[in-house]
Amino acid sequence: MDTPTEVLHRVFGYDSFRAGQQEIIEHVVAGGDALVLMPTGGGKSLCYQIPALVRPGVGVVVSPLIALMQDQVDALRALGVRAGFLNSTQGLDEQQTVAATLLAGELDLLYLAPERLRVESTMRLLEKAKISVFAIDEAHCVAQWGHDFRPDYLALSQLHERFPQIPRIALTATATPATHAEISTRLGLDQARHFVAGFDRPNIHYRITAKSEPKRQLLDFLRTEHDGDAGIVYCLSRASVEKIAEFLVEHGIAAVPYHAGLDAATRAAHQARFLREDGLIVVATIAFGMGIDKPDVRFVAHLDLPKSLEGYYQETGRAGRDGLPATAWMAYGLQDVVQHRRLSLEGDEAHRRRQAHHLDAMLALCETVGCRRVMLLDYFGQKDAEPCGNCDTCQTPPASWDGTVPAQKVLSTVLRLARERRQKFGVGQVVDILLGKTTAKVLQHGHETLTVFGVGAELGNAEWHGVVRQLLSQGLLAVESDYGALVLTDDSAAVLRGQREVLLRRDLAPARSRSGSGSGASKGKTAVELPAAAAPVFERLRAWRAGVAKEQGVPAYVIFHDATLREIATLGPASLGELARVNGVGENKLAKYGPGVLETLAAETSAS
Ligand code: ADP
Ligand code: ZN
Repeated sequence: MDTPTEVLHRVFGYDSFRAGQQEIIEHVVAGGDALVLMPTGGGKSLCYQIPALVRPGVGVVVSPLIALMQDQVDALRALGVRAGFLNSTQGLDEQQTVAATLLAGELDLLYLAPERLRVESTMRLLEKAKISVFAIDEAHCVAQWGHDFRPDYLALSQLHERFPQIPRIALTATATPATHAEISTRLGLDQARHFVAGFDRPNIHYRITAKSEPKRQLLDFLRTEHDGDAGIVYCLSRASVEKIAEFLVEHGIAAVPYHAGLDAATRAAHQARFLREDGLIVVATIAFGMGIDKPDVRFVAHLDLPKSLEGYYQETGRAGRDGLPATAWMAYGLQDVVQHRRLSLEGDEAHRRRQAHHLDAMLALCETVGCRRVMLLDYFGQKDAEPCGNCDTCQTPPASWDGTVPAQKVLSTVLRLARERRQKFGVGQVVDILLGKTTAKVLQHGHETLTVFGVGAELGNAEWHGVVRQLLSQGLLAVESDYGALVLTDDSAAVLRGQREVLLRRDLAPARSRSGSGSGASKGKTAVELPAAAAPVFERLRAWRAGVAKEQGVPAYVIFHDATLREIATLGPASLGELARVNGVGENKLAKYGPGVLETLAAETSAS
């Protein structure tokens, strides 16, 4: 029997375990149950794949991600692992073949859709097989209050009753203590050891920029920093998804839309293209992304504010799973705050309170003058992080300024407008009054006679919007449900009476994104930049990989990750023995692809 470390080297071709993996794997190999909390991209799959390979029998993986099972199985087969799946996409014949292979003991890993376990015949099939471990992926789907709840997951409690001797490992990236507790109860994992991995994703650069012209800002960000890279752009609505995807295509950038309003076939096709092609961008609502384990997603961009830090962290976590530098970029502005404050007024009291709490945490991240990463990690319970040097606020610390007087001007304008019973006014009117603009709407309501009219000449239009945005973020202003009309809050009075200071963040001029990325970002970048001589070799290897992937009908990363190709291009191995030392080249891939790689390298040398 191989040890976990031997399997890591031989099958996966990796040098060493990532944080947490070894402990978890050894615990499960020894027959223990485990509940694993690890960030997206942290390396959860190995935590059940290696035990399945080390222990005798087949590892059964329950996963809701039916559309991805084929790719997961292909990736394992490329490593020489005997893998199969059972789900509703298969015909009866195919299912019978898989069942026969299973019973013959010829499978190392079997992926199962959760609804299968509700079927008695599947349970009986499993009882006849020799099972090494049960893995429950995306385990937060069992949590009923969560947004990913799947009723089929409730059936998973049976596993423990019918297979008490077989270790179970449940995995999730959803971090809150409430989810954690619910998973444990519902799956009967009270005896399980809990493993909580560090939540940091150090290779992700975080940046949140003031939104002025979102489309141009996005285009600029893509062109200056992620030309030709694969990535995801998140938007709130289906309409903006369509609009942004079209806009990118018009500007010569390969992009496809993805949202729940598209028919299933289109969605599947766009997802498949994203997984298979190099450098495609998906513009999507949050309907896209769960379980997408494409390792070379180089950026995740948000054009609208996510609803919660949980959502933000899950979505941005899809970038840079391969450990190479990646960017989490967001453009955020006043309208985002207004819109979300309004949304958080919907529903019952408890729901509203929860929404407001989530939004406050999200806004605090946007407005912070401190390290973004420290704040994120703190939120997820890791209290001792140091400023990271790889986020925008670390690299270009924003100044804060005493905004008490401007805040008072805004609040007293809102106070005066609130006295008008017949109509409510939004941000635009407040700012026009402060700037002393005699617009039609100002004249119509006689607002030029207010004492606050024209008292705001010290700031410009954009700056006043920034002040209002931050007052909303800090809860010193609120919006009313219907029109986004501004109203005072309980805390406003103290500011108006001069009993409370207001500290504001000075927005960096909405500059081109290039200037936003300081020296640290370029430092991060050097890790991806190849030595000049290796760049053409890397391109050759990519072209070779694209050919092989196409021939075999699998995504390119199933052959080798970018990180592996970069290492090969840089080291230039001259023999299979040297190639075997590259991270990501295991036994099976060496045999299967090694000669092709060496030939590609040799062709390059003779050509140059
Ligand atoms: P997640 O936790 O999101 O499920 P995955 O299991 O998909 O993460 O792993 C993310 C990426 O990291 C994958 O591409 C995987 O091959 C790679 N990876 C995992 N463990 C290691 C390791 N010990 N050494 C190198 N790469 C690893
Ligand atoms: Zn930082």
